[in-house]
Formats: sequence, structure tokens, C-alpha cells
Amino acid sequence: MTGTTRSIASLDRAHVWHPYTQHGLPPLPLPIARAAGAYLETTDGRRLFDAISSWWVTLHGHAQPEIADAIAAQARTLEHVIFAGFTHAPAAEFASALTRVLPAGLERIFYSDNGSTAVEAAIKMAIQYWRHRGQTRRLLVALEGAYHGDTFGAMSVSGADLFTEPFREHLFDVVRLPDPSRDGSATVAALETLLASRGDEIAAVIVEPLVLGAGGMQMYAAETLRALRAACLDRTLFIADEVLTGFGRTGPLFACAHADIAPDLLTMSKGITGGFLPLGATAATAQIFDAFVSDDRRRSFFHGHSYTGNPLACAAGLASLALLDDASAERRTRIEAAHRSALARLANAPWVRDVRVLGTIGALTLDTGPAGYLNPIGRELAAYALTRGVLLRPLGDVVYVLPPYCTTDDEIAMVWSVVDDFLRQPR
Ligand code: PLP
Repeated sequence: MTGTTRSIASLDRAHVWHPYTQHGLPPLPLPIARAAGAYLETTDGRRLFDAISSWWVTLHGHAQPEIADAIAAQARTLEHVIFAGFTHAPAAEFASALTRVLPAGLERIFYSDNGSTAVEAAIKMAIQYWRHRGQTRRLLVALEGAYHGDTFGAMSVSGADLFTEPFREHLFDVVRLPDPSRDGSATVAALETLLASRGDEIAAVIVEPLVLGAGGMQMYAAETLRALRAACLDRTLFIADEVLTGFGRTGPLFACAHADIAPDLLTMSKGITGGFLPLGATAATAQIFDAFVSDDRRRSFFHGHSYTGNPLACAAGLASLALLDDASAERRTRIEAAHRSALARLANAPWVRDVRVLGTIGALTLDTGPAGYLNPIGRELAAYALTRGVLLRPLGDVVYVLPPYCTTDDEIAMVWSVVDDFLRQPR
């Protein structure tokens, strides 16, 4: 261990509390010095392939020069300004650019800080929208097995599971539809029944389009998404949470495009800045926005964060969006094909229960040990992968690879062969 590594590790051990980390168990967090492309470099000089895009945020590659330059230039011009009563070029231009690539009809962008706050804003907009229309609608509808974030509203609409269990009594009531990755027609039928019996109580239906991410990279059919959206038309609001799926993760820029649908509200974060800075955004239709416009201040949307519309984050967002060109789309198509060929080889192994691919996301479920996040095999695989120079972070028995878009076919093949080697070890 180098001196730098030792000093970072000991300061960290003394003073830092990490997310989703049990500090009573090994391993200690690994100090990272720098990153470029698809690779991280530890302070003691080891290179690690970032197979999970650093929690799904790194889009093109680490330290992408165009984004770094845009942030540096913006930092020298205007680093921040209060976003109530003031505006600036990066926020206005990024909002305009987003509305040009978002599903049709999403015309207004509300900025926040991360995926959870983008979801909070969407939920609050939906509830208040109905109040402005003279209706009290308090019910939210969500999918079983969903994940929408860690703040209270976002936890409420997430699946009732290990992560939300300690807070169960503090979450608001949500009606859950059966997991569409098991039986999409049952999900649609449950929504139809619910809308028929309690439609006028429902403020919104929220879904992760096509991929239940943190719930285990479970995928469902575009026809199911289309039918869920269609059921809500003119009856209640439909929120698509594209925090994970946005900006090309599933192939097209937004997963809604697979089903050719446009939601009433759409949430974004993670890849929105190419993975450089925290930023959340909630897109809304003109109909929703207009319901808040009035000469009565009480009809305002009383929600905001100190860093709302941060110029650096918006400049990063603009630079990242410009990189999502045809060449990027081609790279994503290539990654999908590379996942498919690697996973076709793994699919028949006795310890693999299910393999699935959508865009740049490849995943498999293991048929060993207890189902779910606490299956220890995920941590064992992560530790093994590090010894082979790969950063993986399985969700218990679900192994997924979700790499930056600069990843080559050989690198995809290499990561899946590391997984295969681990699974072939006697245990
Ligand atoms: N929504 C979805 C679909 C997510 O996958 C996540 C995070 O994984 C969130 C919301 C929450 O985002 P954040 O971690 O930025 O709060």
C-alpha cells in the first residue's frame, strides 16, 4: 500500500459514512486517484474496468474532455446563481435542448439535484395538479419491485423491501401493481380494474419504463408499457421514471421510445450530465405546467433546492447531450450485440436461471443461494472481479454489466468471462 493510499484509507475509516455500506463488514472502500474512458485507477496504480458506470452515471466515459472543458469554462463565467427570480444561458438552453429530444409534449423542465428529488418533484406536481383542478387525489400507483430513490416520497412508491423496511410506518399508502416482468398482462389488468374502481382517487401511476433497475434489472415488454400508458390516458397522470434508462441506456435516448409513448411527467438524472455532476430534472407537459400558472401565489409549485439549475451541471448536460450523436447510438447498438453474444454462451450454465439484455444493460440471475439482495454470492463475485481488474456490484443474485458507451466488444466479452470464471469455481 502506498503512503497516499494509507492516508486516504485512514481518514476515510475515521470520518466517512458511505452509502449502502455496512461498515462492520469488509472490504474497506478502495481509494481511486483518477479515471479515464472505461477505467478507474486506484491510488496504488491498479486499473479497474468500470463495468457499472459508477452506479449507472458515467455515460460516454470517465473524464470525457468535452464535458470537462464545458464545466471548466462555465466555472470561470458563472458558477451558480439563485434560480428563483434569476436564470442563465446553460439552464435555459439545456431545458430547450431537452424538450427537443424528449417524448412529444414534454415542454417544461424543472431542475433538482438527483434522481430521488426528480421523483419527489414529479409526485408533488401530480398531487398539486389535481388540487388545482379542484380534485383531491391522494393515491399513487406503482409497480411491485420498483425502485425510485431514497427520499420519503420516492421510498413510498418503491417496492416494499429490505431498503424501505425500517421506515415502513412513515411511508404514504401506495397501491402496487404486480411486477410486469413476471406477467405483463396481469399488471395491465390490475391497473384497469383499479382505474375502474378508484380512478378518481389516483393522482398518478409511476413506472420505470422497461427495466426495474435496482429491483434486479428485471425487464418487461414494450407492449406492456404501451398498455399501461394507454390505460391512464385522460384518467390519471402517467409518470415515467427514466433516471436509469434515460440518455441512451436502453438504446434510444429514452426508453419510452421503445413503446412509442409520451408520459405526462418524466424524471431524469444519473447520465444527464454524462456522469460529471449531480443534476435531476422533471419534465412536464404544458397542461400540467399551465394548471400552476395564476395570479394567485398560493398556486405556485413550492418546491426547490439551493442548487436548482446549477450552471455547471447544466453546462455539463448540454455538452453531454451533444455527444449523444449517431456515432454514440452505433456504439450502444454494438454493446447490446456484444452482451447478447456473451450471454448466449452463459445462458445454459446450470447456475444461471435467466439472462436478459436491453441496450447497454446485460443481466443474469443466478440459481444459487437465497433469492434477492442479501444473497452473499454477489459480494463474493465483486471481490473476485476486483482481483481480475473489474468493478462489478451485483444486486445479490443478479449480476449485471452496464458499462460506459466507450466500451469495446472485447471488454464486454472480458467482463462476462470474468463472471463465468468465478461461477465455474468449485464452491
Ligand atoms: N429512479 C430510478 C429508476 C433509479 O434507478 C434511481 C437510482 O438508482 C433513482 C430514481 C434515484 O436516483 P438517485 O440515486 O440519484 O437519488
